[in-house]
Amino acid sequence: MTRLTRPDLDALPNYVPGRNIADLVRELGLDEAIKLASNEVPYGPLPGVVEAVTEAVTTVHRYPDMGVVRLREVIGERFGVSPDRVVTGCGSVALAEILAKTTCLPGDEIIYSWRSFEAYPIIAAGGGATSIRVPNTAGHGHDLTAMAAAITDRTRMIFVCNPNNPTGTSLRKAEIDRFLDAVPSDVLVVLDEAYREFVTDPDVPDALRTYGDRPNVVVLRTMSKAWGLAGLRMGYLVAQPEVAATIRKVVTPFSTSTVAQAAALAALDQEEEMRRRCSLVIAERTRLTEALRKLSVDVPDSQANFVWLPLGERTAEFSAACESRGVIVRGFHPEGVRVTVGTPEENDRFLAAAEAAL
Ligand code: PMP
Repeated sequence: MTRLTRPDLDALPNYVPGRNIADLVRELGLDEAIKLASNEVPYGPLPGVVEAVTEAVTTVHRYPDMGVVRLREVIGERFGVSPDRVVTGCGSVALAEILAKTTCLPGDEIIYSWRSFEAYPIIAAGGGATSIRVPNTAGHGHDLTAMAAAITDRTRMIFVCNPNNPTGTSLRKAEIDRFLDAVPSDVLVVLDEAYREFVTDPDVPDALRTYGDRPNVVVLRTMSKAWGLAGLRMGYLVAQPEVAATIRKVVTPFSTSTVAQAAALAALDQEEEMRRRCSLVIAERTRLTEALRKLSVDVPDSQANFVWLPLGERTAEFSAACESRGVIVRGFHPEGVRVTVGTPEENDRFLAAAEAAL
């Protein structure tokens, strides 16, 4: 048979999105179900976003502003960096792909902790790079010492996910300082802070403010979670100007849509409301963690908007038991289950399902 695609991609796993509510309801004959599987914030778009989107839609017969000028200015102002250091993209996952494309030639290595964000292996393979996975510590976090030891002449990029998806664990300033000092200056370190807005531990640094000036650091952020724009696809990164300029050359043209730009500007105007919603999530995170620990699940402290249940071989059974009660969670076989913090009512429903399942 004629081969049209790269054989090395045959073994690549698919990105698994959280299960679809309609499918589950139909399959199990349920009246309804809730989804706590994709780490969204459950309180709707921020005020002003729907209006901004509605207005922006009237111009969609035209291409977006390719330079994303206003939005990069606003992001730059917020973090005290010049706009030429900011690159936006169709979700931060697209920017992570672009980073692999920018740094790696075939056979070069990308290091990341495992388990971490499930897109990292796909991004590495798609870019023709070799994945070097460093196992998580017993406490489900990154082993930065082992990650530094895994660096070779072929290493071009390292993903550090802080807080880590799916385990919620976080790295503190002293250990990140030590790690960054150990990484050679020609290796790019990507500090992926998709969940930064949910961090309450003062020892967990804001990478933009703390490491933004390091020449080999790129900070990746998303507006999908705390900012409520998951469906519009808007992420950004901050890098040194020369790195940002190269990234901009290979980024897909016009990949931050007119509507995404308008929505992001409107959302960024609502920081106070965003923080208020995050504080609801944070309070519920504490409640969920304590309730699950009472059920004898060894939940690590989470600094994100989800909690991790290290259920090992019981992962599939637990996920199915929750689904049978109309609660979609995200199982990562055979390590554990990630549950997104929802509204208090949704969390109650999950806890009831968990109690029954355990
Ligand atoms: N990084 C991490 C750690 C994530 O968990 C996610 C979303 N699941 C992303 C990046 C990508 O987010 P988005 O593409 O929606 O901006």
